Amino acid sequence: MTTPPVAIHVEISTKIPEVSTERIRAVVTQLVRIMTGALPLERKARLAGLRIRILHCDPHPTNDPNRWPPEFDHATFTREFSHLDYTADGRHYNTVAGFAGTLEVPMMACSKDLICDETDWPVDESIFVHEFAHTIMNMAMGGPAFHGRIHNAYAAYAALFTTKACRATYACANVDEMWSEASQAWFGATARADVNRKIATVSEIAKLPGLYAILEDTYGPPTSVCHLLEGCRGMCSL
Ligand SMILES: [Zn+2]
Repeated sequence: MTTPPVAIHVEISTKIPEVSTERIRAVVTQLVRIMTGALPLERKARLAGLRIRILHCDPHPTNDPNRWPPEFDHATFTREFSHLDYTADGRHYNTVAGFAGTLEVPMMACSKDLICDETDWPVDESIFVHEFAHTIMNMAMGGPAFHGRIHNAYAAYAALFTTKACRATYACANVDEMWSEASQAWFGATARADVNRKIATVSEIAKLPGLYAILEDTYGPPTSVCHLLEGCRGMCSL
């Protein structure tokens, strides 16, 4: 069953030359609808007031600001986030491709690669789906029942790894990254198999019944958003 959509403000950088503002807004709107479609109204309502910014920024994965491509709009990005220096996990905003909203700071940002412009890093996953999954968990999924379930699911996931292998796998870093990486697989929005080992596909997630059940309760059945993400060649994992 789908509940009515929630009002979310989408702000798009005026300096994105490759893709029209209308196109980006349409894709974001549809992704939001699909990813929140199964949420009960009271949870969905907690996302009201969220601002999503799509920026023209393509930080390099090495986190070295000096290695960003020259067209990166560094001045605008730092000005927009000057009141915030670091993400929740301690990375400077200048070094990330996106970040999630929280109840305290209901603003999410994502570089224009949400549509997987294949000329930019990264081309084999949707950062938008990753960050919006974090945002849904941060803002809509609070409460002890969810907290208990997701922590149990994380314990089962981490138990598949040695301590060293877990440390080397982004999705194993904590509950939050497991959630967002698994969400990307749930929506067919990643072709990666390195950062998300053992939850890179829905069939792998099915081997973790607790995690599978939480994802299904939150999002409904696995759904591919590939058709919205033109440019994501080879990305469609569902
Ligand atoms: Zn993340």
